[in-house]
Amino acid sequence: MNTDSYAQMLAAVQAFHVKHDFKNTGGEELVYRVALMSEELGEISACVSKGKPTELLAEECADLMILLMGTAIAADFDLREAFWNKMDALMKRKSKMIDGRIRVSEFRE
Ligand SMILES: [Mg+2]
Repeated sequence: MNTDSYAQMLAAVQAFHVKHDFKNTGGEELVYRVALMSEELGEISACVSKGKPTELLAEECADLMILLMGTAIAADFDLREAFWNKMDALMKRKSKMIDGRIRVSEFRE
């Protein structure tokens, strides 16, 4: 298995959904998934604010990534394509220093 392949990662997440029958058990309901993603974001925040080991931060980030990929399955969109479209757009944006931190955005003045 090529662990660098997005297709392989997506297939693993799909297999997880199938294993627990998420489609027929509420696991693919988008409002529920948003709540789960918020929960994982809170866990990521706690890792950083409580100075937990990097391995725990990596695990929580993986939780969120798996949920994001599963949300793409549930909502039937191509996250890989969305990723590259967005990266392309981000690379064309300008940055600004705001309060000592860089911000990349569509600045409208
Ligand atoms: Mg977690």
